[in-house]
Amino acid sequence: MSEIPPFEIIRASRRSISIQISKTYGLVVRAPFSVPEDIIHAFVDRKSDWIMKHLARHTEQRERKNNTLYYLGHIYPFEYNLLQKETVTHSGGMFTFSGKVKDSGMEQAALTRWYRKQAQIYLSERVYHFSWKHELKHRKIRITSAVTRWGSCNGHNDLNFPWRLLMAPKEIIDYVVVHELSHTVHKNHSKYFWNLVESIIPDWKAHRRYLKEEGWRYALPKF
Ligand SMILES: [Zn+2]
Repeated sequence: MSEIPPFEIIRASRRSISIQISKTYGLVVRAPFSVPEDIIHAFVDRKSDWIMKHLARHTEQRERKNNTLYYLGHIYPFEYNLLQKETVTHSGGMFTFSGKVKDSGMEQAALTRWYRKQAQIYLSERVYHFSWKHELKHRKIRITSAVTRWGSCNGHNDLNFPWRLLMAPKEIIDYVVVHELSHTVHKNHSKYFWNLVESIIPDWKAHRRYLKEEGWRYALPKF
């Protein structure tokens, strides 16, 4: 049986039942005036897997607020240090943000700069590792702020990766790097493309699924 928490049903002049999970109100179900309650409950029961998954995400996001960061697939505590100089350091198994004023915009900006710099260093090394080993020729490596994609390769074989990719585990990063490098040969997702990816990363399917299902984790917490 599902353990769906109690929810509010909002009646409205609409055509279908909708389920919404909001930060403030939790689970909210909207339904047309004409649909009986038992039908609504049966509908919600059928969606219980989806509901439980999304409620768990919200809980994790709330609990992560302010005090943890992902880096190369590991989660680290994050602390403030009220000093004059604004820096981000990652050592001794934790992140420390130093800054004079505890200002959320400042933390976001400093962390973004830190991840960008690490991403440039780490991803360049991984790109060169695979391009040398498998003779895949690329041009520039750019670090972007993209939030909806994990990488791209343009017509000139410039590779783009978002800095938040650095939050993901190393094997996932390698998959993304190989995926984009393989686009230097095949500008599509044909079977030839996937054969090339598979010859380098045999587990690519699991990694691709992981990014789809778990990728939402790899974002800065809300400050
Ligand atoms: Zn692709």
